[in-house]
Amino acid sequence: MKIAVVGTGYVGLVTGVCLSEIGHHVTCVDIDEQKVEKMRQGISPIFEPGLEELMKNNIDRGLLTFTTNHKEAFSDAHAAYIAVGTPQREDGQADLRFIEQVAVDIAANLTNDIVVVTKSTVPVGTNERVKRILLKNLAGDYKVDVVSNPEFLREGSAVNDTFKGDRIVIGAENPEAADLIEAVNKPFGIPVFKTDIRSAEMIKYASNAFLATKISFINEIANLCEKLEANVEDVAAGMGMDDRIGNKFLNAGIGYGGSCFPKDTSALVQIASYVQHDFNLLKSVIEVNKVQQHMLIQKAKTRFGSLEGRRVALLGLAFKPNTDDMREAASIVLAQELVKEGAEVVAYDPISIENAKKLLPAQTVYVNSPEEALLAADFAFIVTEWKEVKALTPEDFKERMKLPIIFDGRNCYNLNEMEKHNIEYYSVGRKPVN
Ligand code: NAD
Repeated sequence: MKIAVVGTGYVGLVTGVCLSEIGHHVTCVDIDEQKVEKMRQGISPIFEPGLEELMKNNIDRGLLTFTTNHKEAFSDAHAAYIAVGTPQREDGQADLRFIEQVAVDIAANLTNDIVVVTKSTVPVGTNERVKRILLKNLAGDYKVDVVSNPEFLREGSAVNDTFKGDRIVIGAENPEAADLIEAVNKPFGIPVFKTDIRSAEMIKYASNAFLATKISFINEIANLCEKLEANVEDVAAGMGMDDRIGNKFLNAGIGYGGSCFPKDTSALVQIASYVQHDFNLLKSVIEVNKVQQHMLIQKAKTRFGSLEGRRVALLGLAFKPNTDDMREAASIVLAQELVKEGAEVVAYDPISIENAKKLLPAQTVYVNSPEEALLAADFAFIVTEWKEVKALTPEDFKERMKLPIIFDGRNCYNLNEMEKHNIEYYSVGRKPVN
């Protein structure tokens, strides 16, 4: 089939590339000319394992093209996927300006009937709004259907998730449109769940809100474990053996970040408020997460008193490993607070430094290896569990730092090992080693 994908970010580009890999003719359209030029040359503008290889492959097979020209993308297309951003507005609501603009662009450039598929995460009722905009701006007497097909990929394993996802959710009014999108996805061999449009939109928010709840829950348990001298890793392992609970998403740490959980949880609180529903549980999840992000700073202040003039190794900047995405990363909050407290921040990340420079305080110094960051540091903050960070040995800390003092927000190291090597080690929900 001929498919247009609008927006070539983490979701759009991965979707376009994977749809071409299973044999569709895909045209990806973006308004960012520099990005499009890069992609035409087979260069991925984002870091995502396995993506660039598939991209080059399908450009060579003639199945994948890139353009800034909407007409070129939509003419003769059976389906147009919307995958533009829905960032958080100041008041917590999802900003739908990009979605609305794309609906106008699609309608104005149609040359045939089309199914418009919303991949972006959008509040309940948005697809109906998209349909109204499409109908209002139609270039001719064409039939348009709208399908909600929310995306569940995770950055860092997005290609793998697209081929091996748990489910594909298809929300539609018209069963024929739903069948067409099911047929598009058939080669993936992933179970399809069909429902109405509003329920599909809600599935995405409910899923992210539930996962965020799991994270805030285990973080609260971790905070309690610290006070009650229990070990959160054992607690999570013991809980996770119960099938009803499951063992995933029970890693205590410095809270969730990234481009989805913070904005989607806030958006769902707002969506609830439109129908006079006070979503107290989710508000608490968000509050717990905010407090959790400051936890390393609190621990460092308790240990040192003032952080003024202290040199800090900030290890890992991306919101999680295997991505260069810095949106809502805990490292931003931590670096800002450290600088405010008068500390000197020396930061390391294997791939996110260029993106980090736009978001971290200007005083931050960047280095090319975790070992370099540790040189003459008063203490280290472990922020992202990159393999390079996890691979650091007790000797690495002892040989380079003034004194080996670590505040680990990701529980990367073994407590006994730290104890054996006389490292002062504070982690999450586990006893301190000091
Ligand atoms: P992104 O910010 O990485 O990319 C958006 C792209 O859309 C940009 O390249 C931008 O230039 C382009 N764009 C904006 N307006 C356009 C227009 N009028 N025409 C063509 N292109 C346009 O966004 P993302 O992270 O890929 O997220 C996209 C959506 O998917 C969001 O709603 C997000 O919540 C959702 N989502 C994201 C993830 C994730 O892990 N990033 C996972 C699931 C769902």
